[in-house]
Amino acid sequence: MCITMPITEAAKKRTPALPPPRVTYHKLRKLIHFACFLGFLALPFFNLMRFDIPRQRFYFAGYELWINEFAIIFFALMFLMFLIIGSSVFYGRVYCGYMCPQMIFSETSIALENRLRRWVNKRFFEWSARRRNWAVRGLFLAILAPASVFLAFAFISYFVPPADLFHRLLAFDLHTAGGISGAAVSIITFLDFTLVRQRFCTTVCPYGYLQGILGDNNTLLVHYRDEGHQCIECKKCVRVCHMGIDIRNSPFQIECVHCGECIDACVDVLGRLGKKGLIHYTWGEHGGELGGKEPWYSRIGIRDAKRVVVLVLLLCYGCGLFVALSMRRDLLVQIDPERATLYRLNGSRVYNRFRFQIANRGHARSAVVFSLQQLRAATLEITPNPAPVAAGATQQGAFEISRPLASSTEEVDHFSIVATPVGGGPPDIFPMTFLSPPQRSSQ
Ligand code: SF4
Ligand code: SF4
Repeated sequence: MCITMPITEAAKKRTPALPPPRVTYHKLRKLIHFACFLGFLALPFFNLMRFDIPRQRFYFAGYELWINEFAIIFFALMFLMFLIIGSSVFYGRVYCGYMCPQMIFSETSIALENRLRRWVNKRFFEWSARRRNWAVRGLFLAILAPASVFLAFAFISYFVPPADLFHRLLAFDLHTAGGISGAAVSIITFLDFTLVRQRFCTTVCPYGYLQGILGDNNTLLVHYRDEGHQCIECKKCVRVCHMGIDIRNSPFQIECVHCGECIDACVDVLGRLGKKGLIHYTWGEHGGELGGKEPWYSRIGIRDAKRVVVLVLLLCYGCGLFVALSMRRDLLVQIDPERATLYRLNGSRVYNRFRFQIANRGHARSAVVFSLQQLRAATLEITPNPAPVAAGATQQGAFEISRPLASSTEEVDHFSIVATPVGGGPPDIFPMTFLSPPQRSSQ
């Protein structure tokens, strides 16, 4: 039997639900979180960014920088810092919400715990609530313990070669600095993701406070706008917020990491009533919404002269860093005169002694040919010449230059030692002096 219900006037007037958005900020964030997690693992393993403390090397974008290249290392680290600061001027705390490892792993640990709770409640519904709670806790800690070791391993790999660290892990090494650091970071990670989580962002991390200084009227933020009094007080935006705040109170709350979860929540609730969400990413408190109809440069955040300057500075800095890295040479040669003894006489010849150091920062064995310029009748006494140096090694040594006493009447002769890399590359020219006995000038 078919019963036809009368359609009321209210039902006729009811606004149809809006179609759900194709991409939510939640999905976008999870995608970026996953990419960042892969990046977090890949950076040290592929030497894209790693500070190798035992070997005193800094790996950056495929370059192996030695500790004596501190200027470039400093330049590279400052560039990364400026990038984060620049992104804060443009996009507020998107780094916190979308890319920060602390946020990613905190959210993941919460999601894991919730998932385990749902599973245990469904599977063991006949157990008492207390017993189910203990089961969830036990399972969660059992998963988190090896996960903490894994994350600590990935983190320490930024400072100790991963292969070396792996052997220390297998040997339960708790004697060396690498082993002790690994154990300490594992414990800290475990406690962090069981007890601290996002509290870290509002208590320890200074970046949120720094953001307050960096942002201005054109910085992207999450803003609640309800001029038409459409809010139905469902408070879903509050319930989904991991930071435990109500965005409707103010867009400038220090806890807000601009994750956009409350935007999705409001779009979902009001969309079912055929209305648009009331929370948006906006350019400052009074600016337009993200993705609004504006010129392309405004849509990507270039909204005033300050941002143009920040962008130009970042570009110049990045180009400077690229030039500095590309001008690096694999072979670094140093030559110094040894003046503890000014000269040595042997029969009719006078000798001067020099020390050299060759650093091979490349990945292949190499050698340097030493030669002399503008020192008449002189002999370079170095064996072997070319001087070989293994990949990644530093070779030190000494050599003498001799010449007949009769070849010059000067006490000091100026000349150059030339160090030419075997296999190409510009030579290094070192201006030097050759010292001879003083009495000869009076003869
Ligand atoms: S989710 Fe939207 S409608 Fe619900 S309380 Fe928050 S702002 Fe109001
Ligand atoms: S208020 Fe919204 S944007 Fe801010 S942290 Fe909470 S959910 Fe994320």
